[in-house]
Amino acid sequence: MAKKGDMLYAWTSDEEIKKKAELGGAVTALWKYALESKTVDAVLAITKGTDLYDAQPVLITDPKDIASTAGSLHCGTLLLPKLVKKFLDGAETMKLGVTVKGCDAMAFYELAKRQQINLDNVIMIGVNCGGSVSPVLARRMIADKFGVDPDTVHKEEIDKGQFIIEYEGGHKGISVDELEEQGYGRRSNCRRCKMKIPRQADLACGNWGVIGDKAGKATFIEVCSEKGANLLNGAVKKGILATEAANPKGLEIRAKVENAMFKLADKWRKHDFDSLGEGKERLKKIVSETSRCIKCYSCIDNCPICYCVDCTTKNPVYVTPGQLPPSFMFQLIRFAHIADSCVNCGQCEELCPAEIPNALFMHAQQVELEKMFGHVPGVDMELPLLAYVEERAERARLANTGSDMIYENVFNPVK
Ligand SMILES: Cc1cc2nc3c(=O)[nH]c(=O)nc-3n(C[C@H](O)[C@H](O)[C@H](O)COP(=O)(O)OP(=O)(O)OC[C@H]3O[C@@H](n4cnc5c(N)ncnc54)[C@H](O)[C@@H]3O)c2cc1C
Ligand code: SF4
Ligand code: SF4
Ligand code: SF4
Repeated sequence: MAKKGDMLYAWTSDEEIKKKAELGGAVTALWKYALESKTVDAVLAITKGTDLYDAQPVLITDPKDIASTAGSLHCGTLLLPKLVKKFLDGAETMKLGVTVKGCDAMAFYELAKRQQINLDNVIMIGVNCGGSVSPVLARRMIADKFGVDPDTVHKEEIDKGQFIIEYEGGHKGISVDELEEQGYGRRSNCRRCKMKIPRQADLACGNWGVIGDKAGKATFIEVCSEKGANLLNGAVKKGILATEAANPKGLEIRAKVENAMFKLADKWRKHDFDSLGEGKERLKKIVSETSRCIKCYSCIDNCPICYCVDCTTKNPVYVTPGQLPPSFMFQLIRFAHIADSCVNCGQCEELCPAEIPNALFMHAQQVELEKMFGHVPGVDMELPLLAYVEERAERARLANTGSDMIYENVFNPVK
């Protein structure tokens, strides 16, 4: 029997799932079992729409339909938890299974902290994520850099540092580093992302660490909770999934890859944050970029941290109605309310019609706030900074300034 902390290789015996699955089809087989056994009422997953650049969310209730959701779509840059809040009543009344990338898992926790989602009713199967690519940019990259008609591509993946495409007539790979230096490749928030293995989900599934004869044919599973262990054990007992202990060498490789991804993310963080400049130069840059804002509210509608019924940016006392671009107050309100908890999901940047690098501005602030207050968003149910103010921590912070004012040594505490 699998238990929390176990590391396994897993593969399905279901022929239909096997055909479409990315690896061992464990994720889809687990969902099939979850629906059949009524562990969940529905599964929210991603399926291919018009083509492989078109990732669509689907809600599946019939286990016969679940095979259509197998396979990874690397152009699937969408975020699922806010859909659960908006359209599924925050999973208040239904038991829901959801396949999550790291950013989805983080967003689930942030919405749950704000009581927008009932996590007791949600099972999360996490997939490791090395990054996703915006669909339009992916098409352009395939045409420009690979010299291939994007409509002839039937599979894409990122493997061993290469972006690989299979198309009518062959396959080609180009180093992701090279593509990213030229402005293609993963979304900029993905380059800075360090949530590579989503251990706050119930199971974390991936490719990293599967070696030997199982390479490419099994899914690596880290069991992260009791809920996850129960689901896995049920599916194995039913015979839809087989498992074996992961190869110790595979574990080592997986840890090394994760570490290398952290280093790369740190490099991109430094690169991107440095590009903002310092002092007044930074302020000028942010004011100038955000002055393209057309007040469509897309950044707010899609941010997993924004949960308010009426946003302060719509209060005429703060932001003058009918004025475009809005005063800088519009952005300041977002910074003040979100920056401590931003999970760097990138939705605010990707969905901005004015192409304002919103996620970059917010993430740059979040990283500094995390250093300052030690609060890590999206990993557990620890409350947001201002929702839980603690006397001893407050006293210690003041003492650390070596003064009796919040005025000096705030950024360089004396202790
Ligand atoms: C964008 C992306 C990047 C990834 N990068 C890595 C990586 O670098 N290293 C690694 O070890 N593993 C990575 N994975 C995970 C890996 O590709 C497999 O998804 C995972 O190992 C499960 O394999 P499987 O055969 O059991 O899954 P399957 O049975 O094929 O099921 C895959 C599940 O993922 C869901 N899904 C597909 N696309 C998305 C999406 N864009 N967002 C959310 N859910 C989605 C499907 O709906 C399905 O539920 C990535 C996955 C995605 C989606
Ligand atoms: S933000 Fe992180 S977890 Fe989300 S798609 Fe990008 S790399 Fe993956
Ligand atoms: S501010 Fe942007 S990047 Fe941060 S959580 Fe909100 S939508 Fe995601
Ligand atoms: S998405 Fe862009 S244009 Fe729309 S309100 Fe946000 S910053 Fe302004």
